[in-house]
Amino acid sequence: MRIFTASLATETNTFSPVPTDLNAFKAAFYAGPGEHPDTPTLCSSVVPILRRRGRAEGFTVIEGTSCWAEPAGLIQRQTYETLRDLILSELTAALPVDGVVLGLHGAMAAQGYDDPEGDLLSRVRDIVGPDVLVAAEFDPHSHLTALRVEKLDIMAAFLEFPHTDFEQRGEHVVELALHSLRGGIKPVISTFDCRMITIFPTSREPMRSFVDRLQALEGKDGVLSVSVIHGFMAGDLPDMGTRIVVVTDNDKAKGDALAMSLGHELYRMRKETAMPMFDTEAGLEKAIEIRAAHPEKPVTIADVWDNPGGGVAGDATYILRRMMERGMDNFAVATLWDPIAVSFCHAAGQGAELNLRVGGKSSPEGGEPLDLRVTVRHVFEAGWQSFRNSRVTLGRAAVIRPLGTTIDIVLITSRTQTYQPDIFSNQHIDFTEKSFLLVKSTNHFHAGFQPVSSEIVYIAAPTSYPTDPATTPYRKASLKLWPRVADPLGLDG
Ligand SMILES: [Zn+2]
Repeated sequence: MRIFTASLATETNTFSPVPTDLNAFKAAFYAGPGEHPDTPTLCSSVVPILRRRGRAEGFTVIEGTSCWAEPAGLIQRQTYETLRDLILSELTAALPVDGVVLGLHGAMAAQGYDDPEGDLLSRVRDIVGPDVLVAAEFDPHSHLTALRVEKLDIMAAFLEFPHTDFEQRGEHVVELALHSLRGGIKPVISTFDCRMITIFPTSREPMRSFVDRLQALEGKDGVLSVSVIHGFMAGDLPDMGTRIVVVTDNDKAKGDALAMSLGHELYRMRKETAMPMFDTEAGLEKAIEIRAAHPEKPVTIADVWDNPGGGVAGDATYILRRMMERGMDNFAVATLWDPIAVSFCHAAGQGAELNLRVGGKSSPEGGEPLDLRVTVRHVFEAGWQSFRNSRVTLGRAAVIRPLGTTIDIVLITSRTQTYQPDIFSNQHIDFTEKSFLLVKSTNHFHAGFQPVSSEIVYIAAPTSYPTDPATTPYRKASLKLWPRVADPLGLDG
């Protein structure tokens, strides 16, 4: 048995001011054939999982290229075509194969391509023919197109948000692919369109129980896999929206019925899934109150929408400015993306004092830059944080402290959202001593920060992210979705 595997992934925020080119992939994660580390990354876990299982079970795995760019704006056409054609040429060289297993994200958009994953899968299918198994793993913050479903035999997305189960879901897809190749199952995909778009954190109810139930359905009564495609509201594409995916063992009717009933159930919860968020002033009031009552641990404040993981630059200053204006002190910030400020800090050197223009450079929506007199506390050639088992680079980095304060700000050059508290400790900041931690992430930070925080306060401050699908000026996405339309499925009556 011969299986080809590769990964091409990023999440495109079509509203982002930051374009995506080949350098963005090379800077974030790029591994040629055989070069993928044994530790998995978010979207490429199928590669090391297949490598390990191939060795243990005696089948041949041919590895293609794996790459990932930090979420940002539209992918340059030549970049997408170069990476696509590279993987397709690796596949062609690997023929004959019995199966193809890809690690995708599912929310890519490139200049001239509204559905790059559908395009890639079509070309894969053209190369291998109708009888070879094609499977893929997706991020739930993706778009589900009919073309992808047509070209795939097996698909599944991570169930958890934060995506703590990405490796487990990679194992799940690989297991289904192997089981099918060995003749044990005949997978068939069913989908249901929920006609809505919102966010679905599984760190709270009602999604926690819903996802637990989905997991319990898998592996019983011919149901092989169940996923929710949450959708990605910052991707203005024709298929944006929430979908249910069910893979059955050759029972399309059963899969269709289950996808519809789960879709209806999720639709009825649509107004309750998102976490409560404060505006900046109310959120900071709340954080100060919590700190006064619970001084033993820091309060974590999430700048929910200035999340580089959602494709924005990650240099919004809005909350930081208000914290400083309100006289809040003894807090730490991770992070502000600011290559110019980092280069100035490195040039001035550790311990130097200088005037520094910080943040707010990529676009006006997240607030103006802050002009501060700072001390350069530390400089790093390669700052880092962890995310589960993988190591996430911050690129060249610096920690600055505005004069007369105990505020520590981590400045980075490689855009990333905040995942783990070691984003502070690795950069020599003792976060346990801080009153507040300001992080840039919608919900991925939750798993790491919940244990070290007295409480978490979600603040929805202005950024370039389109946060309200009811009013976002979409051009390609369907407008017949909730919350644009009150009850598009007509189930409220
Ligand atoms: Zn995601």
